[in-house]
Amino acid sequence: MPEGHTIHRLAARHAELFAGDKVHAASPQGRFAEGAALISGTVLDGTEAYGKHLLHHYADERTLHVHLGLYGRFTDGDGEPPEPVGQVRLRLASDRHWLDLRGPTACELLTPAEVAALRARLGPDPLRADADPERAYALISRRSTPLAALLLDQSVVAGTGLIFVTEALFRAGLPPTLPGRALTRTGWDALWADLVGLMRLAVTSGRIDTVRPVHLPEAMGRAARVDRHGGEVYVYRRPGQPCHVCGTQVGRGELVGRNLYWCPTCQPT
Ligand SMILES: [Zn+2]
Repeated sequence: MPEGHTIHRLAARHAELFAGDKVHAASPQGRFAEGAALISGTVLDGTEAYGKHLLHHYADERTLHVHLGLYGRFTDGDGEPPEPVGQVRLRLASDRHWLDLRGPTACELLTPAEVAALRARLGPDPLRADADPERAYALISRRSTPLAALLLDQSVVAGTGLIFVTEALFRAGLPPTLPGRALTRTGWDALWADLVGLMRLAVTSGRIDTVRPVHLPEAMGRAARVDRHGGEVYVYRRPGQPCHVCGTQVGRGELVGRNLYWCPTCQPT
């Protein structure tokens, strides 16, 4: 599933394509025909991302909410849109650009009250200027749940997925199984600041890089990572391989149905 930086990049891209323009909307597949008809012919005022949720704000207080889930994806282009191929849930087009959405988990119109409710059930998003990390620490510091599970819970922190969580915990030297309540105030401040930095970098580059310059392939004389996600990481999907810092084999375990990766030496329990 795409992590928050991808959704923030999409929000920026969609604003670049359509903001301030009258947009024609349709649902070639038919499943969003009613919603598309309501926004068609109105102006896209702006876009924003909140965690893994994408919002398009149209005139008349109508908000399009998209959650890509595992399979959703957008494609876009200039000029006339091509013939719709496959299950296109939503197509947007202006005089200059077009955009197709396929396979989302959610594609719906929300009222202002529903947008407020969506925001209320999400934790702070490290990529948003209005994020309040205190809200997250208030939840984390009173629970015995493993820290990795808390950071993956979108009602605690929004936008973080397995790669950012796994890597930020490694960089902090914290085991993924640390109970939330054992995380110190200073520890949280550092972890939050690191998530903000890593995620902002990913918004700029379009991939997740978490390795410090001294551990990059060229600095260490090692082969670069080969993975469809791209990016250099410390432990994510590297089970059994040597830790870039200490050489210990990276461990793997399961938590809340997700694979976790950590270095037993750098992240001692
Ligand atoms: Zn290590």
